Amino acid sequence: MKKQKVVVVGAGPVGALAALYAAGRGDDVEVYELRGDLRDPSTVPLNFTKSINLALSERGINSMKNANCPGLVEAVLEETIPMYGRMIHGAKQGKLFEESQSYDVHGRYIRAVDRAGLNKRLLDELEKMPNVKFFFDHKLVGADFRKNRAWFERRSKTLDDHAQNPTKSDPVEAKASKGSSEVEVAFDFMIGADGAHSAVRYHLMKFARLNYQQEYIDTLWCEFHISPSPTNDFKLSPNHLHIWPGGEFMFIAIPSLDKSFTSTLFLPASRFAEIDAQPEKLVNFFNENFPGVAGDLISESDLRKQYDENPHLPLISIKCSPYHYKSSVVILGDAAHAMVPFYGQGMNAGLEDVRTLFEFLDRHRPNILQADPDALAVEIDAHTEGRMMALEEYTKQRTPDAAAINDLALRNYQEMRSDVTSPIYRLRKWVEEALNNYFPKSGFATQYSRVSFGNERYSVVEKEVQRQGRWLLSGIVGVGLIPFVAWGGWWLWRWNRASHTGRGLTKWAAILGSKTEQIGRKFT
Ligand code: FAD
Repeated sequence: MKKQKVVVVGAGPVGALAALYAAGRGDDVEVYELRGDLRDPSTVPLNFTKSINLALSERGINSMKNANCPGLVEAVLEETIPMYGRMIHGAKQGKLFEESQSYDVHGRYIRAVDRAGLNKRLLDELEKMPNVKFFFDHKLVGADFRKNRAWFERRSKTLDDHAQNPTKSDPVEAKASKGSSEVEVAFDFMIGADGAHSAVRYHLMKFARLNYQQEYIDTLWCEFHISPSPTNDFKLSPNHLHIWPGGEFMFIAIPSLDKSFTSTLFLPASRFAEIDAQPEKLVNFFNENFPGVAGDLISESDLRKQYDENPHLPLISIKCSPYHYKSSVVILGDAAHAMVPFYGQGMNAGLEDVRTLFEFLDRHRPNILQADPDALAVEIDAHTEGRMMALEEYTKQRTPDAAAINDLALRNYQEMRSDVTSPIYRLRKWVEEALNNYFPKSGFATQYSRVSFGNERYSVVEKEVQRQGRWLLSGIVGVGLIPFVAWGGWWLWRWNRASHTGRGLTKWAAILGSKTEQIGRKFT
């Protein structure tokens, strides 16, 4: 069969996995990435000071397993740290406390992984494939999805320096001095995995009637670093995701292999502005809201330094549809559905996009043996037609799923920063886990375990959890009514017995019976 030329835009985790799937099917794959090679130590990941730790869970792992790359998953998992639950931190009457809340009644866990480490591992696998070519420092600047042509700007080091530090160099000068150039690339199929501010999506909008919705939530995030203890150990339990819930905001910490923690402060923009206006309040703010962090985990001077030096970044939630145009292009990962990070599913969902997409592509793959040269045209049509059907089905299935996890992620912010300390939240978790444990056939499971430990479609998870909530509510109302019904029954029984004739209830029943009979006779 004629090889298809697949151009992948973006070599982040999703683009890299998509390239692996495409290469595994024998297609000619070209990967274009705006930045330099991540494996080169001088490449600074966009938006991050270093790299961030992410929660990797079942969907991401399952998608890597299906890439058909022997040893890939094992190598990735080797560089992860299991997190069995949340550790909630707080203070009561001046005393620090921590409370562990397991993620799953069966002991299943999520894993802390270094985003750059995972990304590099995927790039290493790609490097081994003879049908994959990398084009780093190439920025997509234009695309025609009817003619299947794209244009990339070849970026110079000076231009990158300008992007990192715009005050220190002039982009026009940089462009002129290094002579940045544009290249035209032809393709059969383009996969856009170029992140939340996707250029592929921007160009796709000119071809497809794409509905698009984006929302910046009123929270910014800033990264902090908790270094290992003086004895080179973890300063906190390494097997938890640590949360300091603050009601309207929170601070979290995720373990790293070098025994440090990557922490994140999530805070409304107005609160960041208040601290910016009075920087001396930072440590107090931490002491009041995140007890045990300032001084114990991060020295006060480091806290101030990191707050000042690390960017305060926005959080965006994006929904759009369709994800494709005819047979030419599809967008995946953050490019299609960037979400707030509170369910730890952004990357997992993006990796699941890849698995789902290729399941549809395989289902509609033409099965033509090229007998003679004239068959080529027929074959190309079959590729195009098959891919078009696959992409239509992909968009149809994935749109509600991505919308569901976007919404769940937004709602989970409330759970992490506040509900984790509420008795009602704990009661529901306890009941659902008990039902799941003792009556597995009841189908009950917590929302968290359905999302993080299974591969059920996100839209199905959302519906099932709502149904479960209605059952639980009826159950709780039912159980709540039991004492009243029992008391009423007991009262009637006493009243019947205490009645002088001993015929209280019997007498009323007899009267009711004869009246009904009289009415009945009138109608017959
Ligand atoms: P990206 O990682 O954004 O990669 C896109 C790539 O495309 C980049 O390499 C970029 O340089 C390149 N690119 C961009 N524009 C162009 C262009 N014009 N031409 C060529 N290349 C281009 N997810 C989880 O699953 N678990 C978590 O615990 C988690 N925690 C998070 C915490 C925070 C604070 C944040 C911000 C996100 C978190 N996420 C988490 C989400 C996760 O980081 C993203 O969902 C994931 O990185 C998306 O991968 P991607 O490959 O789609 O996009």
